[in-house]
Amino acid sequence: MLTLPGFTHRLTQRNTMPKYQTILLFGAPGSGKGTQGKILGHVPGFYHLSCGEVFRTLNVHSDLGKKFVEYSSRGELVPDDLTIQMWQENIRAQTILSIYKPDNDLLILDGIPRNVHQARVMDAHIDVLLVIHLTCSDKEKMFERLRRRAIKENRFDDAKEDVIRRRWQVYENETYPVLDHYPKSAVRTVEALGSPAEVLQHILEMVVPVQAKHFRNALETPR
Ligand code: ADP
Repeated sequence: MLTLPGFTHRLTQRNTMPKYQTILLFGAPGSGKGTQGKILGHVPGFYHLSCGEVFRTLNVHSDLGKKFVEYSSRGELVPDDLTIQMWQENIRAQTILSIYKPDNDLLILDGIPRNVHQARVMDAHIDVLLVIHLTCSDKEKMFERLRRRAIKENRFDDAKEDVIRRRWQVYENETYPVLDHYPKSAVRTVEALGSPAEVLQHILEMVVPVQAKHFRNALETPR
């Protein structure tokens, strides 16, 4: 039998690589994914990673930083290959630095996957235990949030009306279909227009049992 040792090795490595236990925070721009993700990320046993935040920390003069500015200032998605590569490198670095500990922490992903192709590629790396879908029936209220955020957080991608509208279009056409990639039983809906504390309360009701089922108490001493 013809054997290709390198290939087999890569295959074996891939097959035995454990997947990150993950909850996705999902919703339109302005739905509060980042706000809720940040709060959850402060609770021991949770690790929050926002794809948009990682992009915003890039040096705008680096190649990837320039690409980010180019696409996000038009309200469009950064190409998938660059996005996935950046995500993988970032999460690997957080793991090596023990900032994210996959054996102890439930990963809360926000802003990724953002289209069906990203979801398919990421299936090899993440086990999606739950998808929290932050919904809002009042589009204008969400636009209002984005305009306020643009001023408060200096977000150039929310400063122009046509860019905000483009971001929504991209959400509806490319991101919303991601929900159908996961089993219906894994998707939970939360109304996004409540106060941050109210929304948090609903999210915790869904997330805490999942965390308890898959991980031990993060503050207990290891056995
Ligand atoms: P919001 O919280 O308003 O949805 P983000 O902070 O998540 O926005 O993202 C800001 C911008 O960063 C996006 O408009 C897009 O250009 C880029 N971006 C973030 N995540 C991704 C992703 N998974 N794939 C491609 N582009 C992304």
